[in-house]
Amino acid sequence: MKRYSVFALAREAMRHHTGWERAWASPEPRKHYDVVIVGAGGHGLATAYYLGKNFGITNVAVIEKGWLGGGNTGRNTTIIRSNYLQDPSAAIYDKALKLYENLSQDLNYNVMFSPRGLLMLAQTHHEVRGYLRTVHANHLQGVATEWIEPAKVKEIVPIINIDGPRYPVLGALYQRRGGTARHDAVAWGYARACSAMGMHIIQQTEVTGVRQQDGQVTGVDTSRGFIGCGKLAMIVAGHSGQLAEMAGFRLPIEAVALQALVSEPIKPCMDVVVMANTVHGYMSQSDKGEMVIGGGTDGFNNFTQRGSFHHIEETLRALVETFPMISRLKMLRQWGGIVDMTGDRSPILSKTPLGNCFINCGWGTGGFKAIPGSGWAMAELMAKGHSPLAADFGLERFREGRFIDESVAAGVAH
Ligand SMILES: Cc1cc2nc3c(=O)[nH]c(=O)nc-3n(C[C@H](O)[C@H](O)[C@H](O)COP(=O)(O)OP(=O)(O)OC[C@H]3O[C@@H](n4cnc5c(N)ncnc54)[C@H](O)[C@@H]3O)c2cc1C
Repeated sequence: MKRYSVFALAREAMRHHTGWERAWASPEPRKHYDVVIVGAGGHGLATAYYLGKNFGITNVAVIEKGWLGGGNTGRNTTIIRSNYLQDPSAAIYDKALKLYENLSQDLNYNVMFSPRGLLMLAQTHHEVRGYLRTVHANHLQGVATEWIEPAKVKEIVPIINIDGPRYPVLGALYQRRGGTARHDAVAWGYARACSAMGMHIIQQTEVTGVRQQDGQVTGVDTSRGFIGCGKLAMIVAGHSGQLAEMAGFRLPIEAVALQALVSEPIKPCMDVVVMANTVHGYMSQSDKGEMVIGGGTDGFNNFTQRGSFHHIEETLRALVETFPMISRLKMLRQWGGIVDMTGDRSPILSKTPLGNCFINCGWGTGGFKAIPGSGWAMAELMAKGHSPLAADFGLERFREGRFIDESVAAGVAH
């Protein structure tokens, strides 16, 4: 694989960009791999990447029923932060944030990581108490966050109305290192790096069954035939319940649609990410100038990947008191993704009742930010049978009642 560099760019500019090679190969599947990963979203691709990079395991196939990054990874609003409450969450999300900080260099692919800062507004006294508690917890965890007063919020976000009649801004939890990255680029960067290590990314191929013998996984049935494997990882977000059923076990997961929308592009007006969890809305401005806006999940289970009109109205109605200027914007596009919600709003990175079969899911509305840390931990779990970062996120916690309750930090938005 040729490295991307300023010299490569200059060379290609001179020859009218005719010399770029394909970013990743599209090979025919082999009969057997050491590891098969189902799902070429960010988490599946990152797992493959760190299996190769950290453990030298490269006889790996990532099987994707659509196109890589076409699931939630390519549909999310790209918020990155690590200001969670519980220690295991702060550890894995902060690992992810640290990896994001150098991901472009590591992958030799510009993922457009933009640590522009992130504000979580407190608009009720209950939220003030909750976020102060999070700031204290973050300090103990070594995650830098701070509490800021309303006047400082206004200074950082001039377009905000801090004196709303229903929900005035009472302060905010501020993480300066938080921000955004380009979602497609994260998937593409990992895919290119995996392909360069000789791994197979097999798109347009649906996994339809999981085969086993004597309690051990032996491979998967796909729309292109049987593919054998030594180890299997199911990393399919909203479709996790279906894959688990194929493997013969059940998951404590609900699949619901989460949607987002963008406005017409406007001049730069907000250079931080702002989340308003009381009213279920959040907003950032993309490089193109569009206001990227997200809300809560649909109130019923579905797999439509579209979302519903009443939700757009609810989200904008909620945000307009805090951001009056958006009432004059035209909305351009709206879309949905199927997110996988656990009861404690924390992910599952785990062995399963089926031998050599692993699962990574339950990232719900907020897994984009976790992709590098999740891939790192999952690769370690698969290669060594144990990962300190994943240890608390096992499936057994639901049986043992050891919940990692992140409903405040993760249940509403991101
Ligand atoms: C509207 C929206 C906004 C969001 N905003 C944020 C945000 O701002 N910040 C944040 O951190 N997170 C956010 N998220 C959550 C985040 O997008 C997800 O948690 C994350 O992308 C999950 O990645 P993944 O790799 O697990 O799943 P996905 O990217 O969904 O990948 C799973 C893949 O598995 C494939 N698959 C499924 N079944 C099969 C099968 N049988 N055979 C083969 N392949 C299969 C799918 O086609 C899919 O490509 C948002 C999500 C949505 C929908």
